[in-house]
Amino acid sequence: MQVPFLSLRDITDKYSKEIHDAVSRVIDSGWYLQGNENATFEANYSQYIGTKYTVGVANGLDALVWILRAYIELGLMAPGDEVIVPANTYIASILAITENKLTPVLVEPDIYTYQIDDTKIETAITPKTKAIMIVHLYGRCAYTEKIKEICKKYNLRLIEDNAQAHGCLYRGKKTGSLGDAAGHSFYPGKNLGALGDGGAVTTDNEELALAVRSLANYGSSKKYVFQYQGRNSRLDEIQAAVLNVKLKHLDEDNNLRREVAQKYIECIDNSKIILPDIDDWSANVFHVFPIRIKHRDYFQKYIFDNGIQASIHYPIPPHKQECYRELNYLSLPVTEQIHDEEISLPISPALKKVEMEYIIDIINNY
Ligand SMILES: *Cc1c(COP(=O)(O)O)cnc(C)c1O
Repeated sequence: MQVPFLSLRDITDKYSKEIHDAVSRVIDSGWYLQGNENATFEANYSQYIGTKYTVGVANGLDALVWILRAYIELGLMAPGDEVIVPANTYIASILAITENKLTPVLVEPDIYTYQIDDTKIETAITPKTKAIMIVHLYGRCAYTEKIKEICKKYNLRLIEDNAQAHGCLYRGKKTGSLGDAAGHSFYPGKNLGALGDGGAVTTDNEELALAVRSLANYGSSKKYVFQYQGRNSRLDEIQAAVLNVKLKHLDEDNNLRREVAQKYIECIDNSKIILPDIDDWSANVFHVFPIRIKHRDYFQKYIFDNGIQASIHYPIPPHKQECYRELNYLSLPVTEQIHDEEISLPISPALKKVEMEYIIDIINNY
């Protein structure tokens, strides 16, 4: 049997008719940017996440870039200020910080949750610290009461990178509504994925929402009047229409992901493998299903030879990347261990029962 890591085709197929209808509606409307589809999606997404504002933007990286840039434009941060961020994250979280000439301060994750270790945040704070960016990595909530208290004590903005966690809950509230502002990605492979690039910023802060909307529209909120040196970073109408369809099914899709995860946790029985340690099922939307194993390369080859594609999130940590030479000297053992041992099993709302059972069998025979 061949099991791909993620079949986007199968995911789209589930809602094929609705998606085709939505795209056709936009094509026939003759209106392709900044129209009703964006307005509807922004209203629906605000309601879903539980914030006053959503601003659609071009992608998830830009969503994070614009949040920080808006704080700079509003005079709340300045180039050279520090932003605390987990050391094990997708590079985009860090790129958003450095693109704004802010300084990322990398904090180790917890080896069980893979989320930023909140006991290591306070020692990383300096007089230059202005914000903490948490990343709900792998679809799991990174927010804690302790993080909230630290933000309050040191007057720090709390930014959420919610690219991997649409629908994730913390005590009944959605991630993306827990801090001052959140960046979301609708890259096709995310839990809420478009048919191309897309992203959004959610916030309760009207000033911030207006600044983000302007920055993502050349720095303009009034035609031909330019307030900031912005860029063109808008969500197009076709993607917004697709997202309106997929948002309706997001909870149902996340439940299917949880069912796959539950089955893996119940049925994978191999002492070489460390399964995720789930304390709160509602706080997890399983963007990926991360397992850990020593000598990962052998394992990856073994399952690949048996037709199963697994993916590594991520093979090289940001501080060891060539683009961050100035960080290469850092030693972050927990982060490095996760990057050495992590491998993600196929998980998606379209994964078939026979595929799941096959994966479990192959792994248990390793
Ligand atoms: C995908 C992702 C992003 C970037 O989103 P894009 O839409 O691909 O630009 C940012 N942060 C994390 C954690 C991501 O997984």
